[in-house]
Amino acid sequence: MLINIVTIFPDAVKSMLSIGVLAKAQNLGVLTLETHNPRDFSLDTHNSVDDSPYGGEPGMVMMAPPIFEAVSRINLPESNSTVLLSPQGKKFTQIEAERLSAFDSLTLICGRYEGVDERVADYLADEEISIGDYVLSGGESAAVVVAEAVARLLPGTLGHGAQAIQDDSHTSGLLQHPQYTRPSEYNGWVVPEVLRSGNHEAIAKWRRAESLKRTLKRRPDLLEEAELSEADIAELFRNGWSGKGKKI
Ligand code: SAH
Repeated sequence: MLINIVTIFPDAVKSMLSIGVLAKAQNLGVLTLETHNPRDFSLDTHNSVDDSPYGGEPGMVMMAPPIFEAVSRINLPESNSTVLLSPQGKKFTQIEAERLSAFDSLTLICGRYEGVDERVADYLADEEISIGDYVLSGGESAAVVVAEAVARLLPGTLGHGAQAIQDDSHTSGLLQHPQYTRPSEYNGWVVPEVLRSGNHEAIAKWRRAESLKRTLKRRPDLLEEAELSEADIAELFRNGWSGKGKKI
C-alpha cells in the first residue's frame, strides 16, 4: 500500500511514521509512505499556502491551488482514496480502517489554520474523515492515526497470527480482556491464577468473560452490535445486563 500525506509539516509526520508498526510495514515492503508539501507548489514568491477567508472572519484558510498541485504530481494507482482530514468528516472507526486498508493507495490531506478552501472537499477529496468529535489545530496527528490503524491491518505487519488480532478491542466487537506479563507478583499485586495455570480452555473462558464484563461496564453500546453466543449472553445476564438494545 502507498500512503501519501499532504502536509505543510512533513517533518512532524515523518518522525511518527518512522517508528513502530509503520516502520515495520515499510521495512517489510508492504507499505510506502510519502509526504508532499503544498508549500512547494505555492503560486506566489512568499510560498504562501493560506489566505484570509472570503466574507471576513478571523484567521486564515488553506488555499486550494497548492493542494491540488501537490496531489496532481503524485503518481496515483487507480485504487486510491483521497481523504481530507476534517472534524466534519465521517467518524473514523476500526470498520473504517478495515475498509481503507483494501485500497492500493490512500492520499491524506492535512488541513491547518481555520480549515481548507471548500473546493478541496468538493473537487479533490473522495471523502472526509474525522478522528473524533473535537477540533485539532491540524490534520497531521489525524493522518498519523489513520495511517497507523490501517498499517497494522496490512499482511505481516504485526508479525503474529490472525488470532491475536481478532481479540483486539473493536476488532472483535468487544473490548479486549486485561493482559499481564512478568513479574507474576509486583508490590503484592498478583497476576490472576488462571492465566498461570496452563489450562488453555480455562484461560480462554476467563478471557471471554473478562472481555464481556468490561465491555458491559465501559462500553455497553458495543454489545448492541457484537456477535454473542448463548454462553456470552448468560455471562452478561449474570453481570446485570438487561439485554437493552440487542436483538436476542
Ligand atoms: N474550522 C474548522 C476546523 C479547522 S481545524 C471547522 O470548524 O470545521 C484545522 C484542521 O485540523 C482541519 O482542516 C483538519 O484537517 C484538522 N482537524 C481538526 N480536527 C480534526 C478532527 N477531529 N479529525 C480530523 N482532522 C481534524
